[in-house]
Amino acid sequence: MPGSKVMKALVYHGPGKKAWEEKPKPVIKDPTDAVVKILKTTICGTDLHILKGDVPAVTDGRIIGHEGVGIIEEVGKGVTNFKKGDHVLISCITSCGKCEYCKKQMYSQCENGGWILGHLIDGTQAEYVRIPHADNSLYPIPKGADEEALVMLSDILPTGLECGVLNGKVKPGDTIAIVGAGPIGLAALLTAQFFTPSEIIMIDLDDNRLKVAKTFGATHTINSEKENPVEKVMSLTNGKGVDVAMEAVGLPVTFELCQKIVAIGGHIPNIGVHGKSVDLFLEKLWFRNITITTRLVDTVTTPMLLKTVQSGKIDPRKLITHRFKLDQIMEAYDTFENAGKKKTLKVIMTNENE
Ligand SMILES: [Zn+2]
Ligand SMILES: [Zn+2]
Repeated sequence: MPGSKVMKALVYHGPGKKAWEEKPKPVIKDPTDAVVKILKTTICGTDLHILKGDVPAVTDGRIIGHEGVGIIEEVGKGVTNFKKGDHVLISCITSCGKCEYCKKQMYSQCENGGWILGHLIDGTQAEYVRIPHADNSLYPIPKGADEEALVMLSDILPTGLECGVLNGKVKPGDTIAIVGAGPIGLAALLTAQFFTPSEIIMIDLDDNRLKVAKTFGATHTINSEKENPVEKVMSLTNGKGVDVAMEAVGLPVTFELCQKIVAIGGHIPNIGVHGKSVDLFLEKLWFRNITITTRLVDTVTTPMLLKTVQSGKIDPRKLITHRFKLDQIMEAYDTFENAGKKKTLKVIMTNENE
């Protein structure tokens, strides 16, 4: 409500506990802040990890969520790029634009930001959110843009592109495999096609996700529960393996699979969030000119992605399977948590409150 000092938000209350409850509406703390009224937001796999208690930095009482689009409600005196009423895309990464890492375009490592939204500070699954360093952490939404599609640019599209495709050095004609056909793996699949690889093999355990991957441009799919993925990849590549083996799950078994299917001279870009150490088969890889990379998304490709969505070169709307009102967020969580049964990719929650 305008003028009101309270709002509704999704609050973490320790492992396994969350509530949609009243919280104070955020206010400007620093001159570089903006307060944004959320129009649309979504749930990320990372939020499920937080709710399980896997991210101990998130403490009781934290509003979670790090993706969304909204309208500027108020800006601090130091904000020059935005004013009240502007429609903005919220980046999952907050960046000051001034520190050593920001100067190197490594916004994810920003000394005054990085991934803090819905992690170290209150996030976007709320009616309002405070965004620090607003000039660098928000992007203007062009008039007439599909705002629902743009929610996919807060995190998953730049993550798939930067951590998977760019770090994997995908080139025209490459054969690539993406291990994991969840939203991030599918975002990598969509953005890999900017570089016209010749074959894209998707590997997952869920037949529905593999079916979706086919409609998104995968040339082959492998259900690794029903077929041996190493044998199948080798038979598809004349025994050579793939030029790029992307890890988009975050488990030891999937990272090990990437090591077994990568070709000589190939790349293994890691995208997944790992909680356990994995085996490195250096005795088999040391002489094969392999590059393994890790990265957190820097969202440096967001302006470019905005243009490709605007021009219709890429349609991230395809990733959205379910829609809810913001105050139906508990139902949205249930749908996202039971993704296999409910065939969920990304859910969108729309704030319809005035
Ligand atoms: Zn995320
Ligand atoms: Zn910085």
